[in-house]
Amino acid sequence: MAGRVIFIGAGPGAADLITLRGARLLAQADVVLFDALTDTALRDFAPRARWLDVGKRGFCDSTGQTAINALLVKCAQEGGTVVRLKGGDPSVFGRLEEELHALSEVGIGCEVVPGVTAAIAAAASSQRPLTRRGTGRSVSLATAMTRSGDLNATRTADTEVFYMAGKQLASLSRQLMSATWPADTPVSVVSRAGWPDALHSDHTVRTLAEASVLHAGRPTIVTVGAGARALNSPLPTEPSVATCGEPLKSMASPAGDARPTATSKPEP
Ligand code: SAH
Repeated sequence: MAGRVIFIGAGPGAADLITLRGARLLAQADVVLFDALTDTALRDFAPRARWLDVGKRGFCDSTGQTAINALLVKCAQEGGTVVRLKGGDPSVFGRLEEELHALSEVGIGCEVVPGVTAAIAAAASSQRPLTRRGTGRSVSLATAMTRSGDLNATRTADTEVFYMAGKQLASLSRQLMSATWPADTPVSVVSRAGWPDALHSDHTVRTLAEASVLHAGRPTIVTVGAGARALNSPLPTEPSVATCGEPLKSMASPAGDARPTATSKPEP
């Protein structure tokens, strides 16, 4: 008899960002197919399960995705509980559609458990709320990467959050200006959000390329517009913001200043 498949969002970093439901179901796994950006400490939740790495090495392109789909189906057909553990939330840039499709084609049912997506973790790490009363009424989760590998940035919301753009910040800066974002729009860059060594820096659309060196080689979220604004920077339409409390030290740099901020305590 075919087994059951559970897609679980692992969250963006540290193992304790998985949901309680995710952790409880992970503990029932016989097999876990996991992604590159998931924390190895999650193994403690299912120490007796067979853990299969389907992350970056050998599985990153479209051929790799076909192989992952096939492996998922094979594991499910062998029976037991199969967990597909994905970084962040499975529904956000997670190739969930292809994997759901592969399972439904062979009639295998599944469940999806949500996780904390990187955009939300970046907002928490940098303490920059994604929505702002009066000025940030809409948020868009976007990738600037097209299928052909070209970059294409947009302006569809008050706050635009870009995934998978960390390696091309200079190009993203130009694309944002082409997409009508004013050059002095605040941009917040957070890498390894949710991890103990998360880094945060402030820029503008014009100066975004400066972030490349600081965040090189790390998973990075780029937040543009209302949700990137430092809480202590001028807010023309909301003068009462000053009453929200003392500005936190990590937010002290004004928007447009490229000073990096370690967003949490260094690892012991
Ligand atoms: N499903 C994932 C996204 C996968 S796409 C989610 O919901 O978060 C991979 C991209 O996510 C990376 O290129 C990077 O842009 C972003 N990302 C993932 N983890 C991150 C983290 N801890 N910090 C910053 N960005 C992260």
